[in-house]
Amino acid sequence: MDAGFNEVIIRLKSIVGEKYVILEPDGYLYDETPEPIRPGASRDVVIVKPSNPQQISEILKLANRLRIPIFVRGGGTGLSGGAVPTRPGIILSMERLNRILEIDADNLMVVCEAGVTLRELLEAIDKIPGLSFPPHPGDESAQIGGLVVNNAGGARAVKYGVMRNYVVGIEAVLPTGEILQLGGKVIKNATGYDLLHLIVGCEGTLCVVTKVVLRLIPEPGATYTLVIPFNNPENAIKAVPEILRSGVVPLAIEYMDIDAIKAGEKVTGKRWPYRGGKAHLMVIIDGRSEDELIEKSELIEEAVKKHNALDVLVGTSRKEQRDILDIRSLIYEGLKDETIEVLDVSVPPASIAEYVKRCQEAADRIGITVLHFGHAGDGNVHQQILKSGLREEEWRKKYEEFKEFAFRVAGEFGGYITGEHGIGVVKKEDMRKTMPDKAIELMKAIKKVFDPNNILNPGKVVDVE
Ligand SMILES: Cc1cc2nc3c(=O)[nH]c(=O)nc-3n(C[C@H](O)[C@H](O)[C@H](O)COP(=O)(O)OP(=O)(O)OC[C@H]3O[C@@H](n4cnc5c(N)ncnc54)[C@H](O)[C@@H]3O)c2cc1C
Repeated sequence: MDAGFNEVIIRLKSIVGEKYVILEPDGYLYDETPEPIRPGASRDVVIVKPSNPQQISEILKLANRLRIPIFVRGGGTGLSGGAVPTRPGIILSMERLNRILEIDADNLMVVCEAGVTLRELLEAIDKIPGLSFPPHPGDESAQIGGLVVNNAGGARAVKYGVMRNYVVGIEAVLPTGEILQLGGKVIKNATGYDLLHLIVGCEGTLCVVTKVVLRLIPEPGATYTLVIPFNNPENAIKAVPEILRSGVVPLAIEYMDIDAIKAGEKVTGKRWPYRGGKAHLMVIIDGRSEDELIEKSELIEEAVKKHNALDVLVGTSRKEQRDILDIRSLIYEGLKDETIEVLDVSVPPASIAEYVKRCQEAADRIGITVLHFGHAGDGNVHQQILKSGLREEEWRKKYEEFKEFAFRVAGEFGGYITGEHGIGVVKKEDMRKTMPDKAIELMKAIKKVFDPNNILNPGKVVDVE
């Protein structure tokens, strides 16, 4: 850091207080992106922890005037390198904007600051009888601001959609320092261009989100979690559209290769309820009465039996269901040391069986291990690519070959290279594979309007230098 930066640090201390300016960057230089593809971080950074939008506005005005890069950090759970400080600059940590401001039961809405974690939000809503917040991306330490700007999805998207479907109001600070209010406690709003939905999914490149108004839904009742094993992975995937046509709309339909389940068992120390089978579906349903849940379970059983399901096990108690979900949620963690990347390609749901089949054949042909698991019900099965005991130069080559194949096939099906993890740094070069050049040109123009000096998360999503 040069001498001028010392002046910046003094100014930052005067904005947020000495205690909230940190010069030791350890713990702020990475996110959850697998190490082999994670972008390199600059240690030449200062961490600043504001507590309100006015302070953020002051920091951005300073950075904009002096052209200092700003990297906003939420929960640090991102999988595309978005929060990594790839250049010298300021890391803006949102952790102190952590208040839930209002749970409005009459309007079915919650107002909270952007640094509230998903766990904190769910715990607060749990205390209010009759209300629920449905989206559930896998890592509850993600922050609400992070979930909004990444338009996070998660398992329950099959029935309840993604973050975008719940955001009705945003307060944001622009890179030039203005504080902007968009939307509010309204369900409908047709007032001009929809800037609010441009910010949802902007991956921290257009503004800093400081406050969010989210829709809630009436508590949907109890849940059952069904575990459905198959001997043939193709049958398991083919059963997914059959379930969707059965008249039941499950919260989640998750597919899992048996090796993925074993990885989840290992890290949790918990036992999956069925031994055997090569691939399993985990289906979560909700209902207002025991009778409704039993009827839905029977309809699903009828559907999956057409595809030679070996059994249908029904988890009814809270503990049984929690254990199953924990194993599913920690598959990524269980394989982390061996992981090169987790792809999250999105294809039309009806194409998922063919997509997985072709990718599995390609992985076998190339000679690399790819485990398939995740959101089969909405066409977003994850593909965890492993080092497979190969030498580094071998797995790097094979990984690139597999990824090229997967992205090409996704494009052929009318799909996209990422359904929820976003572009960040790691998928920037690949964006053109499923996105028209004109669309990328428009994104760059939009970035310049919001951030004329390219200070906010520079080099992420699109390059404008
Ligand atoms: C085990 C595991 C499971 C996961 N499961 C899912 C899943 O099911 N579905 C899914 O969609 N994702 C999933 N993710 C990915 C991750 O949780 C999401 O991308 C999440 O939205 C990141 O939020 P965060 O607060 O951790 O953001 P960070 O990682 O801190 O940041 C991500 C990006 O958002 C920007 N940002 C963060 N906060 C703000 C803000 N207030 N204003 C402006 N920009 C901001 C950052 O600059 C960065 O570009 C999973 C991750 C893990 C590790």
